[in-house]
Amino acid sequence: MSDMFANSNQAHQSNEVRASFEFFPAKTDQASDRLIETVERLAVYEPAFVSVTYGAGGSTRDRTLDTLTRIAAETALPVAGHLTCVDAARAQVDAVIDAYAAAGIRRIVALRGDPREGVGAKYVPPVDGYRNAADLVAGIKARGNFDISVSAYPEKHPESADFDADLDMLAAKADAGADRALTQFFFNTDHFYRYLDRVAARGISIPIVPGIMPIGNFTQVSRFATACGTEVPSALQRRFDDQDDDEARFATSVAVASEQVIDLYDNGVRQFHFYTMNKSPLVAAVLDALARHLRGETLDIAAA
Ligand code: FAD
Repeated sequence: MSDMFANSNQAHQSNEVRASFEFFPAKTDQASDRLIETVERLAVYEPAFVSVTYGAGGSTRDRTLDTLTRIAAETALPVAGHLTCVDAARAQVDAVIDAYAAAGIRRIVALRGDPREGVGAKYVPPVDGYRNAADLVAGIKARGNFDISVSAYPEKHPESADFDADLDMLAAKADAGADRALTQFFFNTDHFYRYLDRVAARGISIPIVPGIMPIGNFTQVSRFATACGTEVPSALQRRFDDQDDDEARFATSVAVASEQVIDLYDNGVRQFHFYTMNKSPLVAAVLDALARHLRGETLDIAAA
């Protein structure tokens, strides 16, 4: 456990770093048990919230709610339910919002979502549904006092014609009542800094929380990156090309993500949203590295 996160009062006084952790819903009872163990291992970092995704096209609606309810009951951590409005009538989406409220879930990550066929399939706004994520944020606000996170895209969303169009949607979501934006993952941190400049120039003032994806499996993450328009720098590729065993790959993954969060921290970032892929060791190692950095210890990560 890192001292930095051991006591939230101390953490707030000394450096105010807060993490949030994203999980996907478990498919089986066994996987659900393992997920709870993972969440418990990360609970020592006292996350601002832990969130559970909502499968493409709303395919995991019940499992998302079950997983959230279980995490809330067994860990007492603040939970956030993801919610998409793609391929769903307004009444169906509203029923999920009300189910979240009834289960005591007051935080929602509100998204347009991708069609069931996945990323790249053409999005068609549902005839009798919410038109887009901004419309959904307004709908959620109208049904209760929820804390709402939305998405943001430092390298722009693949469907956005340009950054202006992309920022128009972020501005609309902020105007509709979003409390913060969690970004798509990125590896070239310059994209994030340039994006913050663009967001500020556009007059958007909600916090933009960087999404951090520690690389558990380079091939898989590269595939995700290609699908969502995230640059994989060639230097990053080379670092993984050089590794030929699991231990070396793990050390490289820790080094890459630690360097990223430390760079962000040194540039003023205090909140981080981690894509955990339902695993704790990488995320824990990265947060421990950040804690050592805050204590002024030299990191021996360049060797990895
Ligand atoms: P929006 O915010 O509505 O749009 C994003 C950008 O795309 C906008 O800036 C806009 O310029 C552009 N855009 C949107 N629609 C159009 C259009 N019709 N034509 C042209 N441009 C358009 N997906 C899930 O299914 N379940 C999840 O739980 C989930 N969680 C996520 C969590 C985070 C933090 C992030 C970053 C993404 C998540 N996603 C999830 C993925 C997300 O659903 C997709 O990226 C989806 O394609 C866009 O949804 P959005 O809410 O980001 O869209």
